[in-house]
Amino acid sequence: MAFLADILSRVQPSATIAVAQKSRELKAQGMDVIGLGAGEPDFDTPDNIKQAAKDAIDRGETKYTAVAGIVELREAICRKFERENGLKYEPNQIIAGTGGKQILFNAFMATLNPGDEVIIPRPYWVSYPEMVALCGGGSVYVDTTTESEFKVTAEALEAAITPKTKWFLFNSPSNPSGAAYSRDEIKALTDVLMRHPHVWVLTDDMYEHLVYGEFEFTTPAQVEPGLYDRTLTMNGVSKAYSMTGWRLGYAGGPLELIKAIDMIQGQQTSGTCSVTQWAAVEALNGPQEFLEERRKVFEERRDLVVSMLNQANGIHCPKPDGAFYVFPSCKDLMGKTTESGKVLETDEDFVTALLEQEGVAVVHGSAFGLGPNFRISYATDTESLKSACERIQRFCGSLT
Ligand code: PLP
Repeated sequence: MAFLADILSRVQPSATIAVAQKSRELKAQGMDVIGLGAGEPDFDTPDNIKQAAKDAIDRGETKYTAVAGIVELREAICRKFERENGLKYEPNQIIAGTGGKQILFNAFMATLNPGDEVIIPRPYWVSYPEMVALCGGGSVYVDTTTESEFKVTAEALEAAITPKTKWFLFNSPSNPSGAAYSRDEIKALTDVLMRHPHVWVLTDDMYEHLVYGEFEFTTPAQVEPGLYDRTLTMNGVSKAYSMTGWRLGYAGGPLELIKAIDMIQGQQTSGTCSVTQWAAVEALNGPQEFLEERRKVFEERRDLVVSMLNQANGIHCPKPDGAFYVFPSCKDLMGKTTESGKVLETDEDFVTALLEQEGVAVVHGSAFGLGPNFRISYATDTESLKSACERIQRFCGSLT
């Protein structure tokens, strides 16, 4: 439509939202569908956090706030960064926004000029390249493989850097693969970045608290303090605190960058919801024990899903250290035929046939830039996960 902006032709709608829509349609037609597409915990927001929001409403905390967030929240975020990541920020180096999404978007908006490049490991979270495109930049992808458990090597990062590189976008644990980088693996990457002083690091630490076994979470500016002055450390309460609908993300970084993001946000949404901000103060300052309980539940689910998927014909599923996703390969099933006579040529064919034949909704890997794979979110109750994996086993077994 001629009326719409040219930039829209460079942006794709979200594949994860499309899968959710398709499974809603099948459900409405009476089909028994198990949805493993959504990227949000099935747990509820803890009661103490809800209570803090109710108290804030009753106190009349219902007005506009400072654009970057109330000082109590920014102080709570500073304490969080120091306590959990060994990173020291002053409150004026912090910005809170409407979800991690807004922080990322405005960081790109504040820094990208036409022709600037952002290095993005593949598979990536669906929104990264679209945000970069909307802000006028270009994405440069670094490929990973199922065999290397979806982790970028120092050599591959080095090869992707050009004079136009502005950001290296790092996400560990990763959506969609669950891959989480150890301290040594991060150090190998930060060593490369230390040799390229024009490249900044945008680290998306959204899944920090969801790591399993002996794995210890670390973040680039913690591993390499030499990068502190060119790192934006982004995080949020959506995933760990089961607060996806509240809309609060935040970042700490160099003052000039935070000021620029603040300026854009001030012309856009202003401060995020005042009530949400008070809820987030409680989330960050209040009891943290429930994180461990929920982490254990996710770990059990991961183990169940990985083991059941690896028993399905033709599926190869690495066991990731974090997030609540697995990203199995279905390469060995390409070229096979379904019961209804459809030949599977792509991972999109695979997920469509799986949904139609067995009522399991997952997202095809190529939507995240790498295939033939598919993403399963295991942020769902154990019974549904078991049943979904049995259906996947049956589906794979039925292919000829
Ligand atoms: N970063 C990653 C890797 C995500 O998976 C998501 C949500 O799916 C976000 C950021 C955005 O989170 P928020 O709900 O805080 O906007």
